[in-house]
Amino acid sequence: MPATSPYADQPYADRPADAFLDNDGLTVPAAGSRRGAITTGQVKYYYGPMDCGKSTLALQMDHNHSRQGRRGLLLTKMDRSRKAQISSRMGITRDAVEVDDDMDLADLVRQSWASGRRVDYLIIDEAQFFTPEQVEQLAQLADDVQVDIYAFGIATDFRGKLFPASARWFELADEVLPLQVEVLCWCGRPGRFNARIVDGVVVRDGETVVVADVLSSDPDQPSDAVTPSVHYQVLCRTHHRSGDLGPSSGEGTLPLA
Ligand SMILES: [Zn+2]
Repeated sequence: MPATSPYADQPYADRPADAFLDNDGLTVPAAGSRRGAITTGQVKYYYGPMDCGKSTLALQMDHNHSRQGRRGLLLTKMDRSRKAQISSRMGITRDAVEVDDDMDLADLVRQSWASGRRVDYLIIDEAQFFTPEQVEQLAQLADDVQVDIYAFGIATDFRGKLFPASARWFELADEVLPLQVEVLCWCGRPGRFNARIVDGVVVRDGETVVVADVLSSDPDQPSDAVTPSVHYQVLCRTHHRSGDLGPSSGEGTLPLA
């Protein structure tokens, strides 16, 4: 037969503090139960090598949230289409805000609210190209105004070193999640490195960001003979280190983003 609290007949507000001790002497609710904790938005960072479906997942995430009546804002930097939109290789595109290095993202959300457009969550594509300060601004938005942040990016650059923004995402995000769509090296092992290939050779020095074949893909600026061909190819750690591009080297390489 369960023990009856001696305070059972009293309203909760009138009971003394020890009325919340159970029979084992444990306090209910326990400290650390997070009842009454401040509410914050979630910051999630999804990462993977190029061509692992990040933009597709970013657009799917937006679809799932907007279908439930939530209002989102999509941000990108240097999308593969070079337009203010997020485009996936599956052929889906959505309009997005093209962010530059000087943009204050907290201001951007405030302006949206000021114009009467609610923002419940932000989708960040190409998250590795944002500045570390912008990553901090986004984390602060989650803390201060409960906006959820879903960021999608590449962890490491062509040298195999973390992008500065990716490092900040790893440090600040509530959850860091590898994308489950594996991209394979030509040898069949998981490809984790985006090798930069200039004129058929893996390079390990140079600017952090060099967009593949910008000149040759722009009809207004045809490439000339002195412009080296720049491509990116996903390799495993072993073959990134050795620079071995495999038997069909040169084929199957992809432009960045
Ligand atoms: Zn390999």
